[in-house]
Amino acid sequence: MFQAFLIKYAEIAIKGKNRPLFEDALVKQIRRALKAVDGSFHVYKTQGRVHIDTEGEFDYNGTLAALKKVYGISSIHPVMVLEDEGFDELKKRVIAYLAELYPDGEHSFKVNARRARKNYPLESMEINAAMGEAVLEAFPAFHVDVKSPEIMLRIEVREKIYVYSVDIPGAGGMPIGTGGKAMLLLSGGIDSPVAGAMMAKRGVSLNAVYFHAPPYTSERARQKVEDLAAIVSGYSGELWLHVVNFTEIQKYIYEKCPHDELTIIMRRYMMRIAERIALEQDCLALVTGESVGQVASQTMQSLMATNEVCEQLPVFRPLIAFDKQEIVQRAYAIGTYETSILPYEDCCTIWVAKHPVTKPSVKVIRRHEEYLKDGIDEMVERAVNGRDVVKIG
Ligand code: ATP
Ligand code: MG
Repeated sequence: MFQAFLIKYAEIAIKGKNRPLFEDALVKQIRRALKAVDGSFHVYKTQGRVHIDTEGEFDYNGTLAALKKVYGISSIHPVMVLEDEGFDELKKRVIAYLAELYPDGEHSFKVNARRARKNYPLESMEINAAMGEAVLEAFPAFHVDVKSPEIMLRIEVREKIYVYSVDIPGAGGMPIGTGGKAMLLLSGGIDSPVAGAMMAKRGVSLNAVYFHAPPYTSERARQKVEDLAAIVSGYSGELWLHVVNFTEIQKYIYEKCPHDELTIIMRRYMMRIAERIALEQDCLALVTGESVGQVASQTMQSLMATNEVCEQLPVFRPLIAFDKQEIVQRAYAIGTYETSILPYEDCCTIWVAKHPVTKPSVKVIRRHEEYLKDGIDEMVERAVNGRDVVKIG
């Protein structure tokens, strides 16, 4: 019964000069999201809104599912589009529309008409009154409530007539492309995909880096990360995944440094490499899935030690104060949870010490990294230059 969608966005974030930028980014992201949906869509903006017109048959549920992933949308309104065939015909169609959407029950309603085409014979107020009367007659259990109606029946008379009353919440946030680009450190776990989606929600587009350690980590573990990246790209738009071979560096650290500091030192090298690639790719920040106290490498002291190596870029940790349960809920909501819990090995867990340091001293760690000085720079060079880059989404 619907042939179009009206898209509303929260206006608060988009005052003044930023408004066209915001709207154009939103239109672009809606077009991107609809590419994968069956149907022919025409997306365009008018004052303060975005419209989607459809042509012919289209996948209604698929359209809604795609739109719900587009950040920047505050609400989605499916619209019935009618040719102007006179007011009597309009009444019939509106009543059929209400009968289908609200088949039973007592509902309060209000008609809110807007006559944008001035040669229509009835003025807005006249449409409200006449349509309200027709609805009351057809649905004796309905009543009018002008203050807070359950059903706000909107009728917009333009060249055609647009009727809508359904209000589906959008994802909120800002459209991708309005917030610069960040490099997500993406592991196969639960946390980092959630962190990436949260940054994307603020309009930040993503690149991602994954450290793997073949043959200690399998192709399937890498595939899992690519699958997670693909799910995240449903929100963030296409992204480049940089797959860095970390085996040589990991082994070298294992050989030269105290084993209880292995995780911290490894994480410092991950951050250094991620920052290098990020700067090369014009990213403005790093993003991780860290959360205080979750594991030994995420105590305040450990976070300080890993943070210290990032010289130019800020590190964003959107999950820093979240409980695991909250993160799991978000992972469910964005659709990454089932993939994240597949049991493939992670490069960090392979040589992990039984009792890793939980309160590393930056000074001590720095001193122990000195043991690596003969080989590490070349290894980092090799890891950065030899990385695989995969386009996702
Ligand atoms: P996650 O669920 O994201 O894997 P985690 O609880 O396993 O998190 P850690 O393994 O300590 O936590 O990693 C903390 C963060 O470091 C991750 O959220 C991710 O951003 C980054 N990270 C860890 N391992 C890797 C990896 N192999 N490749 C890329 N980033 C990684
Ligand atoms: Mg992990």
